[in-house]
Amino acid sequence: MSVLSCDRKGCSNVMCDILVDGTTYICNECAREFIAKCGDRRFEERKIKKRFENFMLIPKLEESFGITAEEFLNQYERSHEI
Ligand SMILES: [Zn+2]
Repeated sequence: MSVLSCDRKGCSNVMCDILVDGTTYICNECAREFIAKCGDRRFEERKIKKRFENFMLIPKLEESFGITAEEFLNQYERSHEI
């Protein structure tokens, strides 16, 4: 396998560094979001695993809803060349 694409629903990032349970790839962006969601709480390992599985089924926000400020401004990037 040369392209390690993120297994999160709706995420098209590749080159993931994290492989969970030998089966599920997650990109840094999704990993950060999952960490932010769970906060500093401590969980039993099987419970956090369940949370992780559910998280992977939630479509990635940026791609399913609206655009980011960067994407918004990028739309206008070339307009002053005209
Ligand atoms: Zn991802």
